[in-house]
Amino acid sequence: MKDILYSVFKNKCPSCHKGNVFISNNPYNLKEFDKMHQTCTCCGEKYEKEPGYFYGAMYVSYGLMVGWFVITWTANAFLFNADIINYLIFLIATIVLFMTLTFRISRLIWLNFFIKFDTEKSKCLEEK
Ligand SMILES: [Zn+2]
Repeated sequence: MKDILYSVFKNKCPSCHKGNVFISNNPYNLKEFDKMHQTCTCCGEKYEKEPGYFYGAMYVSYGLMVGWFVITWTANAFLFNADIINYLIFLIATIVLFMTLTFRISRLIWLNFFIKFDTEKSKCLEEK
């Protein structure tokens, strides 16, 4: 679990934890937030296994958004008691604000479903 969280939140290759998955580390760099390396710059792991591979990340994104809705709706119902219009404005604003972050986290989670950490591949920097 620690391996997966490190890879997802540090933008690191799930296989070696050395190379970056996305070219820019800044999710709010709007020109490059979606640009990915085709293979890991360190261990050579290919990220897009087949055409359309990242369609699955949309399901992860959907799950994250449903989770965000449930958490914020529950918090509003029991703690803040804002009316529905104010709640919807808050919900839409946060979804738009976190859109690029959700995109990247979804793809990184999707990659971590299929690529496991490999201690042999993590030595890729030492060899070069
Ligand atoms: Zn790698």
